[in-house]
Amino acid sequence: MKSFEAKLVKAVAEKRERLGLSIRALSAQVGISFSTLARIERGDGSPDTNSKIRLLEWLGEDAADLGHDFERVAQVHFRAMKNVQSGTVQSLLRAASCLKDEFGADGDDVANGPVPVADAEPYPELSKDQLEAIASKFRSDLGLSETDTLEPLEVEVEGVQVIRLTETDCLDGRTLRKLRDDACSEWSAMSLPLDREMEMWVVLLNDCHTVERQRVTLLEEYWHILMGHKLTKVSRVAEAYGRTYDSAEEHDAYYLASASLLPREVVQKAVTDGVAAPVLAKRYGTSPQLVEYRIKRLGLWREHAGKKVALKKE
Ligand SMILES: [Zn+2]
Repeated sequence: MKSFEAKLVKAVAEKRERLGLSIRALSAQVGISFSTLARIERGDGSPDTNSKIRLLEWLGEDAADLGHDFERVAQVHFRAMKNVQSGTVQSLLRAASCLKDEFGADGDDVANGPVPVADAEPYPELSKDQLEAIASKFRSDLGLSETDTLEPLEVEVEGVQVIRLTETDCLDGRTLRKLRDDACSEWSAMSLPLDREMEMWVVLLNDCHTVERQRVTLLEEYWHILMGHKLTKVSRVAEAYGRTYDSAEEHDAYYLASASLLPREVVQKAVTDGVAAPVLAKRYGTSPQLVEYRIKRLGLWREHAGKKVALKKE
């Protein structure tokens, strides 16, 4: 059994005994059959991914004590589609471990211990105007005017290395083929912190996607980092487990990405002038869906919805 699994099994057995639970009682609580759980505890074969998640979820806070291997596996954020297969997630986790080995500084690795989740400040709620102001400041820091287009693939962010899937020689052939060929449509990016403070990051970008999609994807990952979002929530993706951002952080990162690409003024003017979404999308190197998202979020649909309004003539 791999060391992570061994530690997991040991932690489960310890907690179970501490709570005075029988294997049968735990089996009922976590939804793993009695015979499987007994076999796992005996060290007779590794738990499968599904059992691992259930046991990790049951361990909760105690899972943090698993330290090293748990952190190595779990400290990643991937943008994946709802239909992502567990084989893809496993490949992403393999890629994460290889990128961490290649780019992580020796000695100051996340692997040295769990991130102090309790110290994390609660995430502030940001209004639409605040988000617009943040995006607008970002654009002006890049030296862009209100109407300039933004090319995210040329933006550099301090402490962040962007690695393109097809350009890295870090991955083994099987992992690369899986992520590039079979699973191209299932995921768009993965971010992993290289240090405990989450100042240094590697972003693995899926460059099999259209450039329009890569732009939004990369910007969203940048915004998580620029906003100081922390990977604190343990969540389950396609029968695997990972740490991720909470939904408010996801919302804000996406909002900021869309607002950086499509400034409010530009969208407002386009709506007033009757410019079609695909035309504006093409001009700004993005998708019509993103333009529509912007129009909706800016409340411009509610005002117009494509219908003329007039006062009745007396
Ligand atoms: Zn995200």
